[in-house]
Amino acid sequence: MATVLLTGGAGYIGSHAALEFLNDGSEVVVADNFSNSSPKSIERVEKLTGKKVALREVDVCDKAATRKLFEEFKFDAIVHFAGYKAVGESVAQPLKYYRNNIDSALVLCELMEEFGVNKIVFSSSATVYGTSQNVPLKETEPTGCTNPYGWTKLMIEQILRDFARSNENISVTLLRYFNPVGAHASGEIGEDPLGIPNNLAPFVCQVAVGRREKLSVFGSDYPTPDGTGVRDYIHVVDLALGHVAAYRNAKPGVSVYNLGTGTGYSVLDLVKTFEKVNGVKIPYELTARRPGDVATCYADPTLANEALGWSAKLGLEEMCRDAYNWQKKYPNGYRD
Ligand code: NAD
Ligand code: UDP
Repeated sequence: MATVLLTGGAGYIGSHAALEFLNDGSEVVVADNFSNSSPKSIERVEKLTGKKVALREVDVCDKAATRKLFEEFKFDAIVHFAGYKAVGESVAQPLKYYRNNIDSALVLCELMEEFGVNKIVFSSSATVYGTSQNVPLKETEPTGCTNPYGWTKLMIEQILRDFARSNENISVTLLRYFNPVGAHASGEIGEDPLGIPNNLAPFVCQVAVGRREKLSVFGSDYPTPDGTGVRDYIHVVDLALGHVAAYRNAKPGVSVYNLGTGTGYSVLDLVKTFEKVNGVKIPYELTARRPGDVATCYADPTLANEALGWSAKLGLEEMCRDAYNWQKKYPNGYRD
């Protein structure tokens, strides 16, 4: 049985991916320092699947500690989720972001070389398309970033490209995620942001359960059908399955795939769908644009559809239903 290392596997996307890799028959090792997660997510994944995960509290920037994992297990592939991801915080504390995100990637590449592990799947982001409005965005779109978080993603993409160029056996898959939302249908695992959520869907969920009074809609004068920002929301379970497909179809060299649905929805589309499927009211006010936001961003996912035989199956209704189901069951996330 193949063994995969999921760094950051206790986090939001990583925990959903751990579940899907187990369902696919892989052995799963999770390395996480719990800087933004709880070991409870993995306990729940074990319960849901009836399978064990080897969970290790490791900071992936710590090479000696991470090497121990490579000594303990023979990895077939690394799926690298670990990293910091808050755009605003990355502007305030850029060095923290460069240190954690770049160091962890370098440590993994060095250990892959040392231990002859040849496959890596990396969590990149649509943020590498910068301010491009050339939608639907294709993987060939020129890249460029507007904040340090985005730059770490683009720099790691470059590091991995150069790594692959240095050794013909290496397979690098760069997955550019659009906007992951939702939760596992069981409501047992989901997104659990610390503090005030930066992202739309978790904020809406917290309004729905009464943790926040109302949503601020950032901008209503964009050149979009209703004036609010348009994004490509993708159900986290579809996204997780995209990783299994990427791993199964990995080939030497560098492959880049957009993981999105190909459909853009506005902030108000999401709010209205959430209200309709969940029978709740989401009070909101229209406020100023958030600096750095683009009007419209959605993927052309054709390449992933064709090369990976993968496509997103779940729609905005399922995303809203499952996000709320998790939030209702665990209003304080893993702290309940
Ligand atoms: P998350 O914060 O829930 O998960 C990241 C995990 O990495 C956390 O469990 C955290 O504790 C862990 N971690 C951070 N630094 C670590 C380190 N040095 N060593 C070990 N563990 C460490 O975030 P997520 O939403 O699941 O995102 C996963 C990946 O996907 C990240 O790389 C993120 O940048 C990327 N991504 C996320 C989104 C999104 O909107 N959620 C979009 C595009 C890309
Ligand atoms: N947004 C909003 N209110 C919020 C959070 C986000 O109106 O409290 C909007 C934001 O301006 C963007 C969309 O929702 O148009 C998605 O934002 P998010 O931060 O979730 O993702 P990203 O900006 O990274 O695409």
